[in-house]
Amino acid sequence: MNRPEVVVVGAGIIGLVSAYELAREGRAVLVIDPTPGAGATYAAAGMLAPGAEYVAGEDENFQLQRSAVARWRTLSESLEAVTGQLVTVHEVGTLLVGFDHGDRLGLTQTHDLAVAAGIDVSVRRRSEHPDSFRHLNDRLTSGLFYPGEAWLDPDEAVAALTSAISALGGAFLAARVTATAEETQSIRLSTTEGDVEAPCALFATGAQAPPLSLSLEHSVRPIRGVTMRCDGVDRFGLPMVRAVVRGRPFYMVGREGGHCVVGATAQEAGGDAIEVGEMRRLLTDALDVVPPLEVAAWTQTRVGHRPVAPSGVPFFEHQTGARWAWSSGHYRHGVTLAPLAGQWAVDFVREVVS
Ligand SMILES: Cc1cc2nc3c(=O)[nH]c(=O)nc-3n(C[C@H](O)[C@H](O)[C@H](O)COP(=O)(O)OP(=O)(O)OC[C@H]3O[C@@H](n4cnc5c(N)ncnc54)[C@H](O)[C@@H]3O)c2cc1C
Repeated sequence: MNRPEVVVVGAGIIGLVSAYELAREGRAVLVIDPTPGAGATYAAAGMLAPGAEYVAGEDENFQLQRSAVARWRTLSESLEAVTGQLVTVHEVGTLLVGFDHGDRLGLTQTHDLAVAAGIDVSVRRRSEHPDSFRHLNDRLTSGLFYPGEAWLDPDEAVAALTSAISALGGAFLAARVTATAEETQSIRLSTTEGDVEAPCALFATGAQAPPLSLSLEHSVRPIRGVTMRCDGVDRFGLPMVRAVVRGRPFYMVGREGGHCVVGATAQEAGGDAIEVGEMRRLLTDALDVVPPLEVAAWTQTRVGHRPVAPSGVPFFEHQTGARWAWSSGHYRHGVTLAPLAGQWAVDFVREVVS
């Protein structure tokens, strides 16, 4: 692309949805990333579960996520219209269970907080809904059910978004942006594959700060997470399982054909090395909640870094008069929040490029 109208730096779920929405607006978009789709997005389970993830003090974050399932449905329909590829939004709800007595006592409080926050939640008993508890430990006899929550496959979303951006005339450059210089009417990006100039740029660089030699209002740090992929425990079409196990969070998403995603660890750390202790805790919790995983095939381990801001709330930094913006801090909800981030990107470019 000779002269892009907007450069999107970072091809994770935030950059890709932003680039897609901009391309749909008729913008000439160039996406720059050395390894598209290989950041936090690669590790994500793809749950859209704002209610079951709600914790006291995260009201602002929760309000941003409320419309996520509806937004993803609209996005998915538009992707299908452009490429013929649908990103299926599996609306199966979430079942939240507590493993030991203390965990179950905590769920009573979780229930009351959820009701106070206006979240749709009810108690679900195994005796009345045996299917919801299929493959779960016999000692788990009841839990909280959050209807309307959903999951999608982030790999499917990355593939569909990439094709759609190309179909709409967008381009991709496999490179790392190393420096940025703002001129009067444009912004110049130095990359490992040469310089690029455009009227404006959006940084969607996940847990890495953008290469801007300016004082930024926000900051992010990485919280490393690991998910496992397994074959042989079929919960496809059943609620996503979330559990509190001896105070630790655990989840499992049942995909088609007996595949499942099990997660996730959360370490205040960068680096790709997976610690033995981190996996031991995840495996112990997994086997306690879903005993049939004992004989499932462990097919993959994926690691990613959740981008978290000190406030825990996502941000869209656009300093007055600047030709760049920074979209990050989506923490453990980046897939959920991506359509909203796409809207913020469109608003930014409308303001900067008439
Ligand atoms: C284990 C785990 C499970 C998760 N599960 C869920 C879930 O179920 N639901 C949910 O909503 N969220 C989930 N999340 C959170 C979600 O994955 C993240 O919030 C989201 O992926 C962040 O997207 P992003 O595009 O900002 O970052 P990333 O996906 O990390 O993408 C950033 C991209 O920027 C590129 N980049 C960085 N610097 C540069 C540069 N200088 N030049 C060019 N390119 C650059 C990187 O190569 C990368 O591809 C999970 C996260 C983890 C780790």
